[in-house]
Amino acid sequence: MSVNPSRKSVSVLVPLALPEPYDYEVPAGLIAEPGSYVIVPLGAQEILGVVWGEGTGTFDAKRLKPIREVLDVPPMPEASRRFIDWMSQYTLSPRGSVMRLAIRAPGALEPQRMRIAYRLVDTRPARMTPARMRVVETAADQFARTVRELAEEAGVSDGVVRGLVDAGALVPVELPGEAAFPEIDFASAGKSLSAEQAEAAEVLRARVAQKSFSALLLDGVTGSGKTEVYFEAVAEALRQGRQALILLPEIALTSQFLARFEARFGVKPAEWHSELSTRERTRVWRGVAEGRARVVVGARSALFLPFAELGLIVVDEEHEAAFKQDEGVTYHARDMAVVRASLGSFPIILSSATPSLETAVNVEQGRYERVALAQRHGAAEMPTIIAIDMRNDPPERGRWLAPKLVAEIGAALAAGEQAMLFLNRRGYAPLTLCRTCGHRIECPQCTAWLVEHRFRRELVCHHCGYTAPVPKACPSCGAEESLIACGPGVERIAEEVAELFPEARTSVLSSDNLRGPLSHEEAFRAIEAREVDIVIGTQIVAKGHHFPWLTVVGVVDADLGLENGDLRAAERTFQLLQQVAGRAGRAERPGRVYLQTYMPEHTVMRALVAGDRDAFLARESEARERVSLPPFGRLAGVVVSSTNAALAQKWARELARAAPRAENISVLGPAPAPLALLRGRTRLRFLVKATRNVNIQAYMQAWLGPLKVPGAVRVSVDIDPYSFL
Ligand code: ADP
Ligand code: ZN
Repeated sequence: MSVNPSRKSVSVLVPLALPEPYDYEVPAGLIAEPGSYVIVPLGAQEILGVVWGEGTGTFDAKRLKPIREVLDVPPMPEASRRFIDWMSQYTLSPRGSVMRLAIRAPGALEPQRMRIAYRLVDTRPARMTPARMRVVETAADQFARTVRELAEEAGVSDGVVRGLVDAGALVPVELPGEAAFPEIDFASAGKSLSAEQAEAAEVLRARVAQKSFSALLLDGVTGSGKTEVYFEAVAEALRQGRQALILLPEIALTSQFLARFEARFGVKPAEWHSELSTRERTRVWRGVAEGRARVVVGARSALFLPFAELGLIVVDEEHEAAFKQDEGVTYHARDMAVVRASLGSFPIILSSATPSLETAVNVEQGRYERVALAQRHGAAEMPTIIAIDMRNDPPERGRWLAPKLVAEIGAALAAGEQAMLFLNRRGYAPLTLCRTCGHRIECPQCTAWLVEHRFRRELVCHHCGYTAPVPKACPSCGAEESLIACGPGVERIAEEVAELFPEARTSVLSSDNLRGPLSHEEAFRAIEAREVDIVIGTQIVAKGHHFPWLTVVGVVDADLGLENGDLRAAERTFQLLQQVAGRAGRAERPGRVYLQTYMPEHTVMRALVAGDRDAFLARESEARERVSLPPFGRLAGVVVSSTNAALAQKWARELARAAPRAENISVLGPAPAPLALLRGRTRLRFLVKATRNVNIQAYMQAWLGPLKVPGAVRVSVDIDPYSFL
C-alpha cells in the first residue's frame, strides 16, 4: 500500500459502538489536532467525531474521505482521551460507546454561529391552535430559544414553532451569550475549624499542593464536618488555578448541598446531573472545556466532562452503590475517578462515614492514605443504636411498629422533637395475594410481584414500570373481596402512623410520590422548618440531610437488605442503616435509633448496636478473603438475554461450550437470572470468578470476542458487578 505523503490523515473516533477510530484525510487549510471535534462523513451521514491521533495507515490512503469541518471548541484534553481508552479496555465496552458519554451535551458542539434563537413579539397569526398557544405561553417569558428548544419545552413539533416564525409571532435574534460562571471566592476563610478538622484539612491541602496522584480516604462519622474539610482541598485546587470536581450520588445532589457550597465560596458551583436542561448542559460543558467553570458538583457522568485543568476529584459518599452504572457502558464511577486522577496526575479524596470494603482494604494495604474525623461537630453526640427484637416485642396484629418504638416516637413528639421511620420499600404493600386460591399478582413482563400503590390505586412493577389497576376480583380464581396486601411499604406505615398519632403532621418521602427535584426540596424544607413531626421515607431520607430537631429514628425492617444474599448484602445493609442512624441527633439533642429486627444476633445488627464499624469491616474482609471474593478476587457478570426464550437458552449453552479453560478462572453458569424475565426478555447469567492476578478482560475477550451472536440475542458483560439480579 502506498501512502501519498502530501496527504495528511488522522484517525477519528466516532461515538458509535465501534472499537477503533477510522482514518480521514485532513484537507489543506484545516487544522485537526489530537482531540479536535470534527464532522466527518460516515456512510451516507455526517457525524461528529474526535481526532484520536495520527492516521493509522491501515486504510487505503487514496480512498480516505476528508474531514468536513473542525468545530470551534477546545480539543478534548489528552487526559480525557486516555481515560476513554482506559475505560474501554477495562469495561470491555467499545471505545466509541465510552466516548459518547463524553459528548452528551449536543448543543455545546454545535457551531455557536448556527444558534439562531427566537423571541416572542406581539404579532399573532390569524389562526391560533392550542399547540401554537402552548408555544406562545412558553415563549412569553421573553427568553430566546432555538426552534428545537421551544418545541421541546412546549411539547409540540418543530413545525408548529416554524409556523409561528413564518407568521411573525417569533422573531430571530442572536442567542444571547451564555450566562457567565461567577467568580468563586476561594481566598476568604471558611468556617473556623476544630483542631481535628484543621489537622485533616491541612493534610488534604498538602496533597493538592503536591500536584501528583494520590488517593486519600476522608473517614469521618456522620456530622463530623467532612464536607467543610474537603471544601478546603477544593479551595486549594482553585488557588492553584486548577479545576475541581465533586462527585455525589445523584440523590445527594440537593439544594441543601449547593447552599453549603455557596455559603463557603460565595457562589453556586456548576451542576451536572440527569435533570439539567439541554441549555444548562451546554453551558456547563462549554464552561468546563473552556476553563470558565472552575468547580463542578455532579453525578457520575460528570467524570466525562472535558476538564482542561482538573486538579482534584472528591467522591463524597464513596461507598454508595449509586456510583455503579449497571446499563450500557457499565462502570463504577468511584473506581473510574481514581483512574482519572491517576491519568491526570492529581489527588483524589474519597469521603465516607462507612467506607466500602474495597476502599478499606486499599487503606489497609497502604495504597490509600486515611485521614480520620472521630467526633461530631460541636455539641452533637453520636446517636445510641438499640435493637428491638421483634420476636420478644412484636407489633400488634396487622401492625408493623413495635410498642417500644411507638412509645419512643410518642415521647419525642411530646418533647417537641421529630421522628423518622425508615423503610426502603415504596408503595403500600410489596405483594398482593388471593386469600382464596393463593394466587400472587405478578408482572406479565418480569419475574417480580406487582407492588400495590394505594395512593395511586395501582399495582406497579418496580422493574419495568408496568402498571395495572387493582382488580376487584382475583384474576386467577375470580373470588371477590379476596385479595389481601402482604407486608408493608412506606404508604402502609403512614397509614399506621395516622392511626397511632392522629394529631401528628406526617410526610411520606419516596421517589414516586415526590415528582421532580422541586417537590423533594419542598419536602426537606418543611422538615427543617419543623412543619412536619414524623417523616416516613425510603432511602431518599437516608442521605446527607441535616435536621436538627430529629431525635428518634425507627428502622421498620432492619433485616430487609439482608434478604437478597448477594456478596455485599451485609456490607450494604450496614452502610445504609448507619447512614439512616446518622440522621438522628445531629444537633444538641441526642439521638436514639431503633432497629426492628428478627435477627438481633446477626453481625450487622451487633456491629450497629456496638458502634463497631471497624470490627465489622474486619470480619467482612476475612470472610471475603477466605472465598476470594472482591476485593480479594475478580468477578465479571455475563447476561444473555432475548425476547425469544429458546434462543436465549441456546446461546447461553453455546457460550458455556465456548468458555476456554484457564488457570485461576472459573465460569459459573449459565443459570436463570434471579430476574429471569425482565421487560419481556428471558435472561440467563454467568458469573466469572478469578483470582486478583488474572487479566479477566483478556479472558473475556478470548471467550466472547470470536462468538457471532445473532442480533436477537444480547450478551452484556459487567466487570466488577454490583448487581446479581
Ligand atoms: P459530614 O459530611 O461529616 O456528615 P458535615 O460537613 O455535613 O458533616 O457537617 C455537619 C454539620 O456541622 C453541618 O451543618 C456543618 O455545617 C456543621 N459544621 C461542621 N464543621 C463545622 C465547623 N467547623 N464550624 C461550623 N459548623 C460546622
Ligand atoms: Zn415488570
